[in-house]
Amino acid sequence: MTDISFIGLGNMGFPMARHLTQAGNTVRAYDIVPDSVSAAGQFGAQACDSLAEATEGAEHVITMVPAGPHVREIYLSDGGILDQVAEGALLIDSSTIDLESAEAVQAVAAERGIEMIDAPVTGAIFLAEEGNLNFLVGGTSAAFNRAKPLLEPMARNVFHTGPAGSGLKMKICNNMILGSTMVLLAEAFTLGKKLGLDQKTMFDILSQGSSGSWMMDNYCPVPGIVPGNPASNDYKPGFTGTLMRKDLRLAQQAAHSVQASTPIGGTAAALMAMHCMTNDAELDFSSIIKMIDGEND
Ligand code: NAD
Repeated sequence: MTDISFIGLGNMGFPMARHLTQAGNTVRAYDIVPDSVSAAGQFGAQACDSLAEATEGAEHVITMVPAGPHVREIYLSDGGILDQVAEGALLIDSSTIDLESAEAVQAVAAERGIEMIDAPVTGAIFLAEEGNLNFLVGGTSAAFNRAKPLLEPMARNVFHTGPAGSGLKMKICNNMILGSTMVLLAEAFTLGKKLGLDQKTMFDILSQGSSGSWMMDNYCPVPGIVPGNPASNDYKPGFTGTLMRKDLRLAQQAAHSVQASTPIGGTAAALMAMHCMTNDAELDFSSIIKMIDGEND
């Protein structure tokens, strides 16, 4: 039985903490939303009232919060995680954040002799529920080997992507593909509809051919085509437009930092930002098809 502190019990973190608890670990769980903490108590985690209670003397910490500023706050603030944990602790941040924030926090951890890895995940909420996430781990081989058994109860795969930061770099590229592909799916299915095609017939035929993809099969943005996906469930997230806007912006920041040319990713980022100015920002990101179709709320 391993002691693990888990911070951030949102759409992804909650089921992840549940899998860790059900695997027999002792999980100290904390979120700024007290109801989420109480709910974690229901599945057997230790419900903690503060970050300090959850991480004091901790040997293993996993964090799953929205973005870079949240990660900087929970690790670097006075009394934050880096002030609390035991000597020799292993820190695992699974949030998708900007490279600068990750480097800043990892640098302070390293100064204090504490191992920290970036371990963002690919996969949707249902995959977190199933314990089938793909972890992209950036860090030393020693840290990866330490982290792997901790991550396995939540994972389909735990990949070592290379040195610290490489997990996030891989994740940022992954989500630039997701966000850009979604825009194209939304445009093509809207075009087909306006040309008079039946969208279900489009899906049935195109998904079998050269334009078929995991995204089309699982995440087709047209309601009623893929049973149970966000589009078929009033665009309940899933992955919100706001989170995808963040990730597409992370890709643009990363691209600027190395002068990479990413015009399609840049266009997708601009379109997702426009979409997030409508009332649909907190719906699943596939709801961008409503803007493209001219049907935004
Ligand atoms: P979420 O907003 O549902 O959950 C984030 C949680 O962090 C919330 O419960 C929030 O209360 C908590 N939090 C924020 N600040 C905190 C603090 N200071 N202390 C403690 N808790 C705090 O987001 P999510 O969908 O679970 O995503 C989490 C991360 O995982 C994001 O970086 C996201 O980009 C990434 N991700 C999400 C998905 C997805 O499908 N939702 C998939 C892959 C990766």
